Amino acid sequence: MALVTISGFPCSGKTTRAKQLKEYFESRLSSPEYDGPELTVVIVDDDISHVPRSSYDTSALEKPARASLFSNVSRSLGSDTITIVDSANYIKGYRYQMYCAAREARVRVATIHVVAPPDKCGGWHEKRGECSYKPATFDNLIMRYEEPSSMVRWDSPLFTIPWDEQPPFEDIWNAILKGDKKPPPAAV
Ligand code: ADP
Ligand code: MG
Repeated sequence: MALVTISGFPCSGKTTRAKQLKEYFESRLSSPEYDGPELTVVIVDDDISHVPRSSYDTSALEKPARASLFSNVSRSLGSDTITIVDSANYIKGYRYQMYCAAREARVRVATIHVVAPPDKCGGWHEKRGECSYKPATFDNLIMRYEEPSSMVRWDSPLFTIPWDEQPPFEDIWNAILKGDKKPPPAAV
């Protein structure tokens, strides 16, 4: 039914937002007002794709890691699921690839840009301790980050969520469920 792509710096709050979104979607799906098809909300992340943090240390490790995440995402797409991809998703071309898979599966899309300044992410990263990135990897992921843009079709509709603001849950729900538009036709 839908693919929601979360994107952001390392330790910017992506997993936090992914969980909040899942909870929100599930509450809407189980509310008495909901009269649509039965849907399951699935989070696909690095952990379930067996992608350790160290995969981001070199591009040689990162390539197969991204491929593993991508195949998990592709498998999850379908008319009865809302798939939330919780990963850095910082490469434009990679988000484009997921968008094409979503079109092929005839599901709606939305992109969530989780925004926090680098020093804030760095502070959270230090506090988190376990499962952390190497300092050089952390800096690299911030430096190489390719910001989503609402001007390109594969990132839109785009919802930008600053770390200190409440996400526009209802707008995101409307974008993927009710949709102002019909689901896109399959890619040719
Ligand atoms: P990511 O998935 O991007 O690595 P997480 O959601 O795991 O980020 O968050 C990393 C750390 O930052 C967590 O320990 C969390 O408590 C903290 N954190 C994330 N977002 C916020 C926020 N908006 N306000 C305060 N702390 C936050
Ligand atoms: Mg995370």
